[in-house]
Amino acid sequence: MDRMPALFVGHGSPMNAIEDNRWSRGFKALPRLFPRPKAVLCVSAHWFVAGTFATAESAPRTIHDFGGFPDELYEVQYAAPGDLALAARAGHLTGATGDTGWGLDHGAWSVLLHMFPQADVPVVQLSIDGRLPPAEHLKIGEKLKPLRDEGVLIIGSGNLTHNLRHAFTAHHRGDDSTPGWAAQFDAEARQAAERHDLAALAALSLTPHGRLAHPTPDHWYPALYAAGASDAGESVRFPIEGFDMGSLSMRAIVFG
Ligand code: ZN
Repeated sequence: MDRMPALFVGHGSPMNAIEDNRWSRGFKALPRLFPRPKAVLCVSAHWFVAGTFATAESAPRTIHDFGGFPDELYEVQYAAPGDLALAARAGHLTGATGDTGWGLDHGAWSVLLHMFPQADVPVVQLSIDGRLPPAEHLKIGEKLKPLRDEGVLIIGSGNLTHNLRHAFTAHHRGDDSTPGWAAQFDAEARQAAERHDLAALAALSLTPHGRLAHPTPDHWYPALYAAGASDAGESVRFPIEGFDMGSLSMRAIVFG
C-alpha cells in the first residue's frame, strides 16, 4: 500500500466551504498530490476539549459550529461515513476514547467537501486535548504515524496564524496588509517544517510573536499533529500559501 502523506491545511473562513475562491480551489487541487486514501483522520482546531477522543460513529453528523453566516452554509451536509475500525485503531495508538457526541465540524468538512466532493472517503476526527503543552501534541502526532502506511490520510486542520480579533479590526479599518508578527511566524513555521525541526515548531507558539499569531493555540496545534506524524528527510511541500484578511495564514503543508 502506498504511504500517505501527513497534511496540514489552513481552513480559514467557513465561507470557503461554499465560495469559489483561491483557497477553495487550492483545497480541490490537494488530492492530486497523493494516492487516494482509504480513510481520513482529521485533527480539527474546532474540537478542542479536555481529553483525546476519536469519533466512533458509522454516520457522523455535520456540525455547523459557527454563528452569523448565510443560511446556505447551515444547509451544507457532508455525509461521509465514519470508520469504527479506524477510530478503534486511533484509540489503540494514542489512548483516545471513542466518542459518539461530536461528528464532523467545519474544520473538517469545509475542506473535505472540496477534496472529496463525493463524500465517499470515511472520516474519523480526533480531538485536541487543550490541557496539554505543545510537545505533547507532537507526540500524539508521532503515535499516529503508522496510519500513514495503512492508507490513512492524516489531516491537521487549523491556520498557521490565527488572531481573529486583529484580522477583523484591521479589515474593518480597510487595512488588509500582513503584520510583521504574522509574516514572521508563518516564515518560521515554514522553515522549521522544512528542516524537520520539531522542537523549534513546538516552541514557536510560546514566543512573543507566537502569542500574537495565536492568542489561543487551537488553530496551531493541528500543525503539530501533522508534523509529529512526519519523518526527517521526507519531502515538505506548500501547495497553498498566502494570507486571508491580511493576517490569517492559509499555508498548507504536505509532509511526505
Ligand atoms: Zn477555524
